[in-house]
Amino acid sequence: QSHEQINSKHTIEPHVLMFPIPFQGPVNCFLKLAELLCLSGIHVTFLNTQHIHRPLLRHTEVLSRFSRYPNFRFETIPDGVEHETPVSVDRFLEVMAGVDVVTKPLFREMMVSGRFSWESERPVTVMIPDAYFSFAVDVAKEASVPVICFETVSPCCLWTSYLNLPTLIEAGDVPFKGNDLDELITSIPGTEQIIRRRDLASQCRSTDMSSQSIELIVKEAHAVPEAQGLILNTFEELDSLILKHMRKLCPNIYTIGPLHTLHKAQLTANTNPLQENNFSNSVWKEDRTCMSWLDEHDPKTVLYISIGSLATMTIDQLVEIWYGVINSGTPFLWVRRPGSIIGGYDESQVPDELLARTKEIGCIVEWAPQEDVLAHPAIGGFLTHSGWNSTMESITQGIPMVCWPNFVDQQVNSRFVEEVWKVGVDIKDTCDRLQVEKAVRDIMDSKRNVYTQSANTWANLAKESITKTGSSSIHLARLIDDILAMSL
Ligand code: UDP
Repeated sequence: QSHEQINSKHTIEPHVLMFPIPFQGPVNCFLKLAELLCLSGIHVTFLNTQHIHRPLLRHTEVLSRFSRYPNFRFETIPDGVEHETPVSVDRFLEVMAGVDVVTKPLFREMMVSGRFSWESERPVTVMIPDAYFSFAVDVAKEASVPVICFETVSPCCLWTSYLNLPTLIEAGDVPFKGNDLDELITSIPGTEQIIRRRDLASQCRSTDMSSQSIELIVKEAHAVPEAQGLILNTFEELDSLILKHMRKLCPNIYTIGPLHTLHKAQLTANTNPLQENNFSNSVWKEDRTCMSWLDEHDPKTVLYISIGSLATMTIDQLVEIWYGVINSGTPFLWVRRPGSIIGGYDESQVPDELLARTKEIGCIVEWAPQEDVLAHPAIGGFLTHSGWNSTMESITQGIPMVCWPNFVDQQVNSRFVEEVWKVGVDIKDTCDRLQVEKAVRDIMDSKRNVYTQSANTWANLAKESITKTGSSSIHLARLIDDILAMSL
């Protein structure tokens, strides 16, 4: 059935409630999907918890873009978190604890009593919560509303470390008991020859199985297969290794990645060509001065360095990475997010030679327009914390990576970058200037051809996946059809 056929039969109009976890990366992904749903005529209520919504209210470009859609609205719900968007990962559990105590009971009450209805006559017909919000799956069931989870961490992490966590615990692989971190984990179907203990998601390193972070994953592992569907930000070819196994547990998977390029393509095709589109949903202001700095460099000569919106490092780690990059002689554009250095940044602890050389070959900004940076011809490599969005953005542009993962899915992503997709070097659990220098030289110079060749192959497949007949476009169309059908 086409959209029109289903629409004509409607008495209740499709109205999706989207509910992301309150962090910059997931909110960004949810907004992109929300906009795609809006373009297809579906009504969307976008539920943000209050503390993440506050900085978004100041981001007038995002607000004005969404104000174009009469079928879109923001709603907020308290989360008991006093401060603004967290700038470091140590706040993650604090925020999730606030959600658990304050948001969860309120959300249940509001959902069950129909408070999210649009102008009282349009009830929620489908719920799309972040897969981390396992409680939302329970509430949807209680309210008899179909639910499709959206997982914004990587599929390789979801499979190896979340959905299989009960298996890992049963097999004695988790918690780690002083075992060899390089030992292969053979209990997960599909990754028996790939994933070592050190490559599991960072939560698996916890020795306390009753900890909040483990509890959240165990709940997610049970909730996700009970939803009517699962949305993933990947494309079929990239994760073919694990998708076939995952589909045995969650048969209805929609692979709609790379979401940022699918979003950009569909938005461009569906809006007035004269209308200026800024595709960014970044909560923080981007410093675009680095773009003219990049213009001064030859193609593929600059290393881009960023550890995303939450990861942190010590000043010693900063100095080691800094030396490694400087000693490689590679010009660099480095994002130094305020709050990203544990204990604060103190220039007096940085050797003068690093500061002097940086003036010659470096550019430092607090927050960059990353998608545009990675698309700039001068960029030849990316030293990254291996966040899933950054990884997808780099793969899409065919940029080789040096991976220095911090937490959550990053440990798994960096392993897949090196071992499965062969687009970079994984230096996890080390922070040594010699190793950084070697890894940077590898991707920028000595092994550049090898990495670039596979990076370009993935980039081309990513591009194909979002064409009209590409797998991600087809999965998005199916998702929209299913939402319409579920709303009948
Ligand atoms: N990002 C950005 N400017 C920066 C650094 C990062 O816009 O200076 C964006 C980046 O494009 C990506 C997101 O922030 O979309 C980071 O997401 P990721 O999943 O890589 O990491 P997280 O921040 O969630 O750890």
